[in-house]
Amino acid sequence: MSPVERQQWDVVVVGAGGAGLRAAIEAREQGARTAVICKSLFGKAHTVMAEGGIAASMGNVNSGDNWQVHFRDTLRGGKFLNQWRMAELHAREAPDRVWELETWGALFDRTPDGRISQRNFGGHEYPRLAHVGDRTGLELIRTLQQKIVALQQEDYREFGDYEARLKVFQECTVTRVLKEETGDGGGRVCGTFCYDRESGRFFVLEAPSVVLATGGIGKSFKVTSNSWEYTGDGHALALLAGAPLLNMEFVQFHPTGMVWPPSVKGILVTESVRGDGGVLRNSEGKRFMFDYVPDVFKEKYAQSEEEGDRWYDDPDHNRRPPELLPRDEVARAINSEVKAGRGSPHGGVFLDVSTRMPAEVIKRRLPSMYHQFKELADVDITAEAMEVGPTCHYVMGGIAVDSDTAAARRVAGLYAAGEVAGGMHGSNRLGGNSLSDLLVFGRRAGLHAARYTAGLAARPAVDEVQVDTAAAEALRPFSAEGPEDGATPENPYTLHQELQQTMNDLVGIIRREGEMAQALEKLADLRVRARRAGVEGHRQFNPGWHLALDLRNMLLVSECVARAALERTESRGGHTREDHPAMSREWRRVNLLCQLTDPSGGLAATDPVRGQIDLVRVTTEPIRPDLLALFEKEELVKYLAEEELYE
Ligand code: FAD
Repeated sequence: MSPVERQQWDVVVVGAGGAGLRAAIEAREQGARTAVICKSLFGKAHTVMAEGGIAASMGNVNSGDNWQVHFRDTLRGGKFLNQWRMAELHAREAPDRVWELETWGALFDRTPDGRISQRNFGGHEYPRLAHVGDRTGLELIRTLQQKIVALQQEDYREFGDYEARLKVFQECTVTRVLKEETGDGGGRVCGTFCYDRESGRFFVLEAPSVVLATGGIGKSFKVTSNSWEYTGDGHALALLAGAPLLNMEFVQFHPTGMVWPPSVKGILVTESVRGDGGVLRNSEGKRFMFDYVPDVFKEKYAQSEEEGDRWYDDPDHNRRPPELLPRDEVARAINSEVKAGRGSPHGGVFLDVSTRMPAEVIKRRLPSMYHQFKELADVDITAEAMEVGPTCHYVMGGIAVDSDTAAARRVAGLYAAGEVAGGMHGSNRLGGNSLSDLLVFGRRAGLHAARYTAGLAARPAVDEVQVDTAAAEALRPFSAEGPEDGATPENPYTLHQELQQTMNDLVGIIRREGEMAQALEKLADLRVRARRAGVEGHRQFNPGWHLALDLRNMLLVSECVARAALERTESRGGHTREDHPAMSREWRRVNLLCQLTDPSGGLAATDPVRGQIDLVRVTTEPIRPDLLALFEKEELVKYLAEEELYE
């Protein structure tokens, strides 16, 4: 095999969304020579699509807000399964991260007296989301990019080279995290194996620490709000490197995706529509969410439309409308209405702002939504209701990390931040808590990755055999053969469609034991067929080849989701079991870790029962008493097991 080009860096950040860019800035500011690699164009990461805002308890619109209230809301939203220390750090540090963005040039919408404006969102007690219209992610990425350019200009002045300490490799994909074995079964990171999407050229970025910031997994599901990049690469890269994934059963189905026309099914309708006053109605015109307030939230939500409506003007003396319940609750309610035959013509329900706000306010506050519906569905949302239904949106499960340092378990030098990391959001994420998560834990991951590298006496080595193996794996689709001599290899697009249909139908929003067992059978079959996925043509920009490589990741991650979902016999947050509809206080103590069955990274397992993934149950760490003291005992009783309350 021809020699593969190698470059040496101190830190490699995989992903250039909010988490990756914030990590890279921090690592570079710590003095680490940092490479950022992303499979899309620089500035085009999924984060750009974020609409509603960044949750941070700045208290600009309601001075009652503070980090403790934000922490409480986050734990309630996650149904107390959150890695509580992450939720604490997130709530404490989010306001500073937002302020910091302004010092780097971001310009948020303002209150009449000139402060950063904050809007309401589901599950947040106070208006808390700093925003830029409904294009907040764009401003966030623009600002972080601008900061990166500023750092590169500094380096030019000092070294005569813009990329001396911070370089972006765009449209390049990482297929393996490389490791030096340490003999204790864990090993330590020594770099990444990558290919350039345009030329198909392979290269290796050698580095003692790697930050995974690759986002989510939505492209394993048929109906999703996620962009093409969300093939679970970082989740799979971590598994293959020997790091476990945490609680992969928790997948968020956002209640409001477009349902029509079919070509745009799944595209997100931001929660800001409801935060700003939009209401959900069924085909009978009824605001049905009042029928779906669960016991744990009864005291916090309005019991009548009048009270709910008064809350928008006087939140201190009224309770919020149930349209602003956490996403899992709203998604299940919509699902039930449609199932009961009270859905809209295209299988969703109606979301209406047209009767709630003047047209010019809708156009000013929700400009993207106005254009999205006008252009994609020929619907004028200032004059008629939207049709919406649940769409796969976010994965709460992810790489198991240390709360303070973002270090992945078991593999020295591996870090993870953003959507790819697990723990922070428990069983269900509150809207707006992702953008703040990216900034808080992106910074922490960059900081600790840089420190780790700086503290090493000697850099780990990348051996030639590993590089050759990774190259051979990446080239396999060009020489794939069918099941019998002369038969055509499998088509990666067909396999992808079958995978998406399987996950949508059998491991979707409402789950049943038999269906998930069926899904595992189907995944085993797809796994065997995916090893024969073949492509034609050459390595220069070949999307079929890229998909054939991504399939490995989607299949691994899908198996984690299905296996963990089958194991957890309760309903909690983004995991709803029709056969186990109640939330169990005993299950709150259980984290499910997924790890590779064959630690050498072999992926041949064909037995659906055995599969590629082992599940391990781990008891959650008890919540620190001073944090528990932020809740009323009556509330804790609903979530915690007897012995936890006693402790
Ligand atoms: P991303 O921004 O997705 O970045 C991932 C990066 O990894 C990309 O650069 C990609 O190219 C790269 N990558 C992936 N795989 C590889 C690989 N193998 N090799 C190299 N590079 C790779 N959250 C909020 O808090 N507020 C909101 O208002 C909000 N609105 C949303 C609206 C929409 C439509 C959607 C879909 C999500 C929204 N979210 C929102 C969620 C939020 O946008 C995401 O969770 C968040 O942006 C994820 O950021 P990230 O940095 O983890 O990953």
